[in-house]
Amino acid sequence: MPEFVTFCRNVFVPVTNICRNECGYCTFRRSPDDPESKLMTREEVISLLTDGKKAGCTEVLFTFGEYAEEVPGYRELLSETGFSSTLEYVSDLCRTAIDIGLLPHTNAGVLNYTELETLKPLNASMGLMLETTADLSAHNNSPGKDPTTRLKTISYAGELRIPFTTGILVGIGETLDDRINSLQSIAELHEKHGHIQEVIIQNFMPKANTPMADYPSPSDEEMMQTVLIASEILPQDVIIQVAPNLTDPYILMQCGACDLGGISPTTIDWINPEANWPDIKKLMQMVRGTPLRERLPIYPKYIKNGWYSDQLKDLILSLSDEEGYRKV
Ligand code: SF4
Repeated sequence: MPEFVTFCRNVFVPVTNICRNECGYCTFRRSPDDPESKLMTREEVISLLTDGKKAGCTEVLFTFGEYAEEVPGYRELLSETGFSSTLEYVSDLCRTAIDIGLLPHTNAGVLNYTELETLKPLNASMGLMLETTADLSAHNNSPGKDPTTRLKTISYAGELRIPFTTGILVGIGETLDDRINSLQSIAELHEKHGHIQEVIIQNFMPKANTPMADYPSPSDEEMMQTVLIASEILPQDVIIQVAPNLTDPYILMQCGACDLGGISPTTIDWINPEANWPDIKKLMQMVRGTPLRERLPIYPKYIKNGWYSDQLKDLILSLSDEEGYRKV
């Protein structure tokens, strides 16, 4: 069992749900002609950021559908923001978050080297789930889920020394060998660049009205086996994260998990809206007495090694204690 488990208090901001991909398990994505399609305005984002700051959050998680600009109709929505690209818009939102006192962590799907380089100074860390290295029917209509493309993004992040979050999705049709191969690919990138701060082992949750509505969730045994394998394959300094709103963290802590990810006191999990975040009191019950420790979206090791920009320096140093965790 770990000596303690970590988590990060965050605000989850789904900047747009328009996405070029069509994953077989997704309920987040919308087409621009869908009344529920959305590109959040600056004012809407600022309101969430302000609420999050007041609630004691340190991180803002900006999420996007991938390369929405490739989807007909999106650019009209974007033009209403006054920005000519999503990259410019998110850069502006990151600056605003820093001004408010929150550390951005952007997960915008696949990005190229230049896009990552633009966002690096404005983000304490960034993320992209690898999900799997297997070629699966769940991703038949999702060009961005090509494993080679995703590994390239993760590798670029390493070249740029961006503290990075990635992970695998368990139960979307992949085999045990595929899981092992995915974890080995992540381990190889970390051995080369040293930038993977955490790997999420996330269980698939079937959603009604999706092509994969009848797929089963992975069993507890499968999740325990996967976390155990991850702890054997991943280098020691890579933290294994599991989601306490999707699975029982305690059984997975016994297999090597020691981080519970972002927990939001003010916003829902937009990707799994049916699964409420536990509050801190509930989290303490879930980990059954194991001490909880709050961290920032950048892990202590990367703070110590100075993997942050001048724009973020003051904020990171003011929020962290001498060990690099959240100052209390
Ligand atoms: S990339 Fe993400 S948002 Fe887009 S369809 Fe797939 S799961 Fe949904």
